[in-house]
Amino acid sequence: MKFRSISGSLCYISLILFLLIAWGRELSHTARSNLFQTAVSNETGAFPASPLDTEPASGNTAASESTRQPELLSDYKSSFPELYAWEDAAVEVTASPQKTVYLTFDDGPSKNTGKILDILKQYEIKATFFVIGKDLSEEGIENMKRAAAEGHAIGLHTYSHDYKKIYSSVADFLSDYDLLRQELEEQLGFSPTIFRFPGGSYCSYGTDIRTELITEMTRRGYTYYDWNVSAEDAVGKVTAYSIRNNIFPRVYEVNAPVILMHDAPLNNLTAELLPEIIETLLTEGYCFETLETREPLHFGE
Ligand SMILES: [Zn+2]
Repeated sequence: MKFRSISGSLCYISLILFLLIAWGRELSHTARSNLFQTAVSNETGAFPASPLDTEPASGNTAASESTRQPELLSDYKSSFPELYAWEDAAVEVTASPQKTVYLTFDDGPSKNTGKILDILKQYEIKATFFVIGKDLSEEGIENMKRAAAEGHAIGLHTYSHDYKKIYSSVADFLSDYDLLRQELEEQLGFSPTIFRFPGGSYCSYGTDIRTELITEMTRRGYTYYDWNVSAEDAVGKVTAYSIRNNIFPRVYEVNAPVILMHDAPLNNLTAELLPEIIETLLTEGYCFETLETREPLHFGE
């Protein structure tokens, strides 16, 4: 009887041990398979990269959207995932001859852009165009394509050029800028890497977000250019005399001058005076280059 009771207990203990081992194996298999899934998800990026990509877990979707909206706006760093400078279009600073001048035209394209392109072609020189998107016409798109094909540089100058709107917050600026990026990618097949802040990087709008905005645009791979000579051809009463006077002799006093001019619809006078400006600079021994070959020029540095 004693022997039977001992062997009975042994059988019972063996059964428990067996069940425990089987359970342990199942547990470790589940853990391994979870690990594998995580690894695969990280590799393929199938898992949400940020909380912003996650779908609302349950409940009223509209309500969840409205509660997520402020988070989206403040978390501008993970918004606009396409808004990064293309690597193959990066700025490559080349050693420039001592007397190089950089003509830049903002706020186009317009009916004046074609005239300016004709003049640049006639003198076989290059320039840079900082374009805005809101009034882009068929003709404007053709002129931008032509400018790119003829070796000029194209830069971004925001979609709306609406100071109040774009300088309200970093997210507002990025949102507006992203519209133009998309438009140019669609129309030209590429997206410029250089840009110019409307009003320059040190204008009176958006002073509270300036540093943050510059840091964010730089993080996204974009390079901005201010200017060191301004034709002042877009403010006040503009005359041939005032344009000449604003450019000369200032242009001779700065290193690698970057001249701000405009090719907006009202800038007929700029286009008219351009041959004279170019000829004066050629006589003085200057050559002309596009901006992305120059060291970035920033106000206050
Ligand atoms: Zn402008």
